[in-house]
Amino acid sequence: MEFRKWFPKGTLVFSEGDVGSCAYIVEEGCVEISVGGEHVHVATRRAGEVFGEMAIIDDKPRSASARAVDDCTLLMITREQLAQRIAVADPILRLCIGVLLENVRHTTRRLTRPADPTERTQQVGDAARQEALAAIRLEQEIENAIDLGQFELWYQPMVELRTGRIGGFEALIRWRHPERGLIPPGRFIPAAERSGLIVPMTRWAFRRACEDLLRFGEELSMSVNFSIRDFATPDFLQEVDLALGEIGVRPDHVKFEITESLLMDSPDTAKRLLGDLRQRGAKVAIDDFGTGYSSLRYLSSLPIDSLKIDQSFVRGMFIDDSNRSLVHSIVNLARDLGMSTTAEGIEEVVQASALRELGVELGQGFLFSRPQPADKIEGFLAAWRPPAYLGGA
Ligand code: C2E
Ligand code: CA
Ligand code: CA
Repeated sequence: MEFRKWFPKGTLVFSEGDVGSCAYIVEEGCVEISVGGEHVHVATRRAGEVFGEMAIIDDKPRSASARAVDDCTLLMITREQLAQRIAVADPILRLCIGVLLENVRHTTRRLTRPADPTERTQQVGDAARQEALAAIRLEQEIENAIDLGQFELWYQPMVELRTGRIGGFEALIRWRHPERGLIPPGRFIPAAERSGLIVPMTRWAFRRACEDLLRFGEELSMSVNFSIRDFATPDFLQEVDLALGEIGVRPDHVKFEITESLLMDSPDTAKRLLGDLRQRGAKVAIDDFGTGYSSLRYLSSLPIDSLKIDQSFVRGMFIDDSNRSLVHSIVNLARDLGMSTTAEGIEEVVQASALRELGVELGQGFLFSRPQPADKIEGFLAAWRPPAYLGGA
C-alpha cells in the first residue's frame, strides 16, 4: 500500500457520501473542504494539517468533499492503522470521541440543511455506550474496594531449582468482592491501569507484601508486580523509601517485577528509576520475558538482575523443540549479561528437571504450589521439603 499520494491541482481527493478508507496529512500544497455539493466552503488545509479523519474514526460516509487547489502531496493514515489504536483505547475515551464526532457531523449538516427538531444528535452505538458504562462502574467499584480494604495478596513460592529450597515469594493480588467472590487480577488490573487507580493499589500491595515478608522470614525475598503508571508517578522512589524504612525490610530482599513493555514505552524513565532502585540494593526482574520486543542493546544497558522466562515457553518446552532452544538462549543471554533467570508456569516434573539442567536459578508454578493466602504461608514453609527431583532427600 502506498502511503504518499500526489493530487494535481483541481482534482477531487474525496466526495461527500464516499466511504472513507483513510485520513490525510498535507505534506505539500493546499486542499479545500466543502459541503452541499461543494457549494459551501468550510475549511482550507495546508502543509502539516490533517483532514478526512472523521470517516475513519466512526466508519460513517464522508460528510464533506476535499479538492486539491494546488498540486498536492498527501500522506495517508489508513483506517487499519487507526482501528488498531482505537481498539486498545479506553472505552470511556472511545465513547467521548464518538459523541464528539456526532456533534461535529450534526453541525456540518446544519450548514446545508435546516434544523430537524426530531433528529437525534447523539447516535453513538449502544455497544460503545454499554462498554463505557461498564468501565465507569468498574472503576468506581475498584476505588471503593481500595477504601474498603477488599484487596488481598496471595503468595506463590519461588523455588531454587538447584537445591529445592524456597527462595522467596511473588505477591499476586486478588479482589475479595462481597457478591462476586474472589476476582483474579486479569479482570481488574487493566481497568486499574487505565484509570490510574493502580497507583494506590500498588502502594498498598508493596507495603503489605513487605510486612508479610517479615512474617514469612527475612532471609526470603519478595517479588512485587509494578506497572508503567507506578513508575510514572513523581514520588515513586520517595514512597518506596518510606515504605521500606517504616516497615524495616532490607531493600536487597525486595524484587520489582516489571514487563518489557514498560521498558519500551518510557526507556529513559525506566533506565533512571531502575538505576535508583539498584543503588538502594533492590532487585529488578523483567516479567514475561520473551513476549516483548526489547532490543538487546538496550536491555544490556539496564541494571536488571533477572529475566523471568514467560510461561508460554515453559509450557511449550516438551511440545515444540524451538521452545526448548528459546529457553536455552534466554538462559545463555542472561548469563552473558550477568543476570539470573526464573521460569514461571512449571506444572510438570520433566519441565522442572529440564530447567534445572539448563541452569535456570528459580522456578515457580503449580507443580510446587498455587498462589495461597498469606495465612497459609507459614504452615506451607514449615511443611516444605525439597522434592527428590530437585536433589532433595
Ligand atoms: P504474572 O506476574 O505473570 O503472574 C503469574 C501468573 O501466572 C499468576 O496469575 C499465577 O497465578 C499464574 N501461575 C503461576 N504458576 C502457574 C502455573 O503453573 N500454571 C499456570 N497456568 N499459571 C500459573 P494471576 O495471579 O492470575 O496474575 C495474573 C497477572 O496479573 C500477573 O501475571 C500480573 O501481570 C498481574 N498482577 C497480579 N498481581 C498484581 C499486582 O499486585 N500488581 C500488578 N500491577 N499486576 C499484578
Ligand atoms: Ca509477575
Ligand atoms: Ca509473568
